Formats: sequence, C-alpha cells, structure tokens
Amino acid sequence: MKKEKYNVAITGATGLVGREFLEILEQRNFPVGELYLFASENSIGETIDFKGDEYIVDALREDSFKKKNIDIVLSSPGGQISAKFSPIAAKEGAVVIDNTSHFRMDKDVPLVVPEVNPDDIKYYSKKNIIANPNCSTIQMLVPLKPIHDKYKIKRIVVSTYQSTSGAGKKAMDELFYQTTGIINAQGDIFPEKFPVQIAFNCIPQIDVFADDGYTKEEIKMVNETRKIMHDDNIGVSATTVRVPVFFSHGESVNVETEKSFDIKDIKKMLSETNGVKIIDDVLSENPEERYPCQTNVAGNDDVYVGRIRKDFSVSNGMNLWIVADNVRKGAALNAVQIAEILIKKYL
Ligand code: NAP
Repeated sequence: MKKEKYNVAITGATGLVGREFLEILEQRNFPVGELYLFASENSIGETIDFKGDEYIVDALREDSFKKKNIDIVLSSPGGQISAKFSPIAAKEGAVVIDNTSHFRMDKDVPLVVPEVNPDDIKYYSKKNIIANPNCSTIQMLVPLKPIHDKYKIKRIVVSTYQSTSGAGKKAMDELFYQTTGIINAQGDIFPEKFPVQIAFNCIPQIDVFADDGYTKEEIKMVNETRKIMHDDNIGVSATTVRVPVFFSHGESVNVETEKSFDIKDIKKMLSETNGVKIIDDVLSENPEERYPCQTNVAGNDDVYVGRIRKDFSVSNGMNLWIVADNVRKGAALNAVQIAEILIKKYL
C-alpha cells in the first residue's frame, strides 16, 4: 500500500541548496512526514522554519540516519561529506538524491534530469543513490533533448556565464563584499572562494584544472551530457566562466545536428517542451520579451531559451542562449522532481 507521507532528511540543510529544498518541498506540497535537518557542527541548534513549524538543525554523524525510517535523503553537504554519509543513509534504507558531484559518474548510480531521462530512476536500487547532475548540464540538456531526439546532435560548443551562487553562500558573500568594498574604496581584495577578484570581473575557471587544460566543471559537462543522453558520440566542447551575478547561469550554446532542420521547427518544438520557456522576440518594445536575462530568470522553475538562430557557418547548426536558476532547476528543484517520480512510481 502507498504511503501517504514520506520521512525526509536534508543534509547540508543550512546551505543555499538545502534551504531551497525546503522552499520547494513546501511550494510543491511534497508529502513530508518526519523532517530531519543536518549540517556541520557549526550549525547545531540553528532553527529553520518549514510549513510554519520550527525544526532544529543537528550535526551530521554516522548514526544520524539510524532508527528514523527515513525514506528520502536530499543531500547537499559537499562532495567529500556526501561520499561518506550517503552510503550510510542508503544502508539504513533511505534513497539518497545527491546534489554533489561525487556519485555522478558511478555506473551503478543513475544521473537524472526528469525532463530528459526519467526512466533511469528505476536503477536507483543498485546503490539506493540517485545523482543530480551539474547545474550547467541540467539547464543545457532540458532544451537539447527534443532537438537530439529529432535531429541527432553531433556536437555542442558551450560557453557558460555562471553565477556566484553556484559556488555556495560564502561565494555570494565574496561578490557582495568585494563589490561594496570597491565602490566605497575600502581596503584590498583578498579572494577566498574564487581564484581571483570576482567583483567587476569574469573568471575563466570553475573548479580545478586537469592536465589537459580543461577545468573539472568543463569535463563534468562533457561526461554528464553523454551519460544522461545515453550517447557517447555527442561531442561536447565547454568553456565555463564565473561572472559577477548572484543567481542564475547563462549559456551560449552552439549545436550541430546530423539531420537538417528548419529553425522555425526548433522554435516550435522548444515552445512545446515541458520545462522550457522561450523569450525570443528580439525586436519587441518590451525588453523583457527580447531575451532571457539572469536577473529576471532567478526564482523561476523553467529553463529559458532565447536568441534562437541558425548558425550559417556550418550545414546544420544553430545558436541558443539558455538561462536557468542554478539553485532551483540546477539543483533543488531537479532533485525534488526526482523525489516526486520516485514516490509515485517506485516507493
Ligand atoms: P553552501 O551554501 O556552501 O552550503 C553547504 C552546506 O553543507 C551547508 O549546509 C553546510 O553546513 C554543509 N556542510 C559543510 N560541511 C559539512 C559537514 N562537515 N557535515 C555536514 N554538513 C556540512 O553550498 P551549496 O551551494 O548549498 O552547495 C551544496 C552542494 O550542492 C555542493 O556539493 C555543490 O556542488 C552542490 N550544488 C550546488 C549548486 C548551486 O547552485 N549552489 C548546484 C548544483 C549542485 P554549515 O552551514 O553548518 O557549514
């Protein structure tokens, strides 16, 4: 018999993604039974509101999941912490939906974007862990999936314009304090979360560099795209850039397909795609109707696509500008959507 409510734990509950989990669970009226919130030792005793009740945050420990009958863990405490604690939660019988990068390329862990490969959720039971993809990959693949299905994508060239919230709450603070410091001519800049100054700057480095000159963020976009699309032949060339924006990532995406297409059909298909909204009336009197921007997309659930145009330099090419809220669709919303399918079809 189906349960009416599911016991949920959130690891990393005090972080940007953790707090967004709570907001989305509440907004979507997810059937939460007992709720357990975990973070680091620094947050012990902090209270967080959920549906009008106060919940006390505890430190994440090896026995945190014991005898609690937790059904689902929404995990976002960082990769190393998840690597240790997600398998412990899974062993206690919970299904972990993990936002960190740690399990994404594990062959026994499905990597899921609900609009793209929802059926992969059925493989969750191999490890009781489902991975949420990287935020830049999620928003790119929601609109590219129908294009791939109909016209077969050969190659993607993507350049990202990623907000500071993608690196967590301390990274947003760094942008804020550097910006106000520079404006008020107060003191020197001491980068901590970013390798160099982020205020009034764009940084062509997200995560660390590998030996081949690409960053780990760029390599994630290549490998995760192939795993989610079930197609190792898609070529992906990525350049990921951090920009001085608080919320939402923008992406300039160039796509080459095997089959020829009419750009009007691409627009029509995208306008009918679940989870996609088009803003592409570049000559509109109203600036908000011309193209999506990071500031007006922040706080929304959909992936926004604009500047849809043919690339005349190749036979079957197109250019797209794709924007989404990285903390919502790029993280917490995607995970809660996975949880919704999980309880509907599998638990
Ligand atoms: P964040 O704002 O820095 O939050 C980190 C969370 O992890 C906080 O709740 C923190 O607790 C907790 N934490 C840190 N050390 C811990 C420990 N030893 N034990 C238990 N909890 C610990 O970061 P975030 O942006 O929410 O990101 C969290 C994860 O989601 C990261 O792996 C990130 O890569 C991934 N992710 C983020 C985004 C995004 O857009 N931000 C998108 C996709 C995936 P305290 O408050 O107590 O320190």
